[in-house]
Amino acid sequence: MKRPDKLRIIGKTYRIKYYRRPFYDDDGSELNGHIWPEQQIIKVAEKVGDALLREVLLHEAMHGIEQDMGVKISEADLTRMAAGVLALLTDNPDFAAYLVSKDA
Ligand SMILES: [Zn+2]
Repeated sequence: MKRPDKLRIIGKTYRIKYYRRPFYDDDGSELNGHIWPEQQIIKVAEKVGDALLREVLLHEAMHGIEQDMGVKISEADLTRMAAGVLALLTDNPDFAAYLVSKDA
């Protein structure tokens, strides 16, 4: 499946940009992804492989939800939650399809 170039998060459309060059957090650590809720941009490292890309995009989307819903989740907890939610959906594709279906 083609990797996405935009994502709707709570009614806002975010552009996803893939970067060949590494980018870093304020503490100097290299990042796989980052989100700017105000600009509605998600930046992802090009080097991230297909499996990790899903987790990175879900992680950044959860940061967008976090911001929009006015909650604060630690980076470590958000990382674990994104991995857990992705595992749940991956292990239960019928459930994932049911969640997003509009059928009665
Ligand atoms: Zn994060």
